[in-house]
Amino acid sequence: MKTIFSGIQPSGTLTIGNYLGAIQQFVKLQDDEDCYFCIVDEHAITVPQDRLKLRQNIRSLAALYLASGIDPKKSTLFVQSEVPAHTQLGWMLQSLSYMGELERMTQFKDKSEGKEAVSSALFTYPSLMAADILLYNTDLVPVGEDQKQHLELSRDLAQRFNNRFNDIFTIPEVSIPKVGARIMSLQEPTKKMSKSDENEKGFISMLDTPKKIEKKIKSAVTDSEGVVKYDKENKPGVSNLLNIYASCAGESIESIKDKYAEKGYGEFKQGVADAVISVLKPIQDRYNELINSELLDEILDEGAEKASFTANKTLAKAKKAMGLGRVK
Ligand code: ATP
Ligand code: MG
Repeated sequence: MKTIFSGIQPSGTLTIGNYLGAIQQFVKLQDDEDCYFCIVDEHAITVPQDRLKLRQNIRSLAALYLASGIDPKKSTLFVQSEVPAHTQLGWMLQSLSYMGELERMTQFKDKSEGKEAVSSALFTYPSLMAADILLYNTDLVPVGEDQKQHLELSRDLAQRFNNRFNDIFTIPEVSIPKVGARIMSLQEPTKKMSKSDENEKGFISMLDTPKKIEKKIKSAVTDSEGVVKYDKENKPGVSNLLNIYASCAGESIESIKDKYAEKGYGEFKQGVADAVISVLKPIQDRYNELINSELLDEILDEGAEKASFTANKTLAKAKKAMGLGRVK
């Protein structure tokens, strides 16, 4: 049995990109593997957050994990800040991280671009992410394509620690889905879809009403050619919609393209909207049952306890290897 770890930031409401790139893989993996899924609230505060909104987003994210099919009997679901070992190991790994390698991270470049005040935590975020993963002796990390570079760094830090101190950490592998690994913004299809996008029209939130979903997809940027076909270079908007359609309907891009060969973008977009709604509607129904339930708190309490048990064991080993604290 492999150990799986992955996290999602409560930095907004999950998008269809988060669902197709991340959560869908999680749900499949939990049947056979030992899974840890985390609400990484300490990552979310690397950019400014409203405290009440953050609290709400943490709860909403937990409910969406469960509504999407994460089963607390099979997986450990918990909030990062409720397991202090994460920031402790994060600090230790920061001391092994080089400025140069952090400066190369494209997410830091993207998120800091044009901003007046950039927190130092946004810069050192990948070291904390490495700690998240390494605390659980993780074998595999299912993520969307945008996290590939951070995963490489996690591997480097694990190896560096093992070589310099003691062979403690498992070197994690990355798992990126074949379809849905990089869903693009509906308004700027050369940019990835993100839940923290200021332009709400750029993303489909998992809690958008069917009407809103239809509206957003109908106003998605395409091109003037009027032909439904996959061409990422020249037709990024249509290609992105094809990807969303294929991932939601479980159909091949080829068969969707054939279905709309004689039809215009209007009909095609309606098809995309229907496919998205049919995936999200049952999830939204379950979400509404869970969001205010005590069950949600019980699951998160239990998750934090289970996660702490494993995380504290690894942290103790890592502290000992580094020479921190006293010998007891
Ligand atoms: P933020 O804008 O705050 O960074 P985000 O939408 O990028 O939010 P994250 O919490 O950073 O979401 O990432 C959660 C998971 O979703 C990661 O595994 C990430 O790779 C995946 N993911 C994020 N955006 C996409 C996307 N557009 N397509 C596919 N997967 C994605
Ligand atoms: Mg992100």
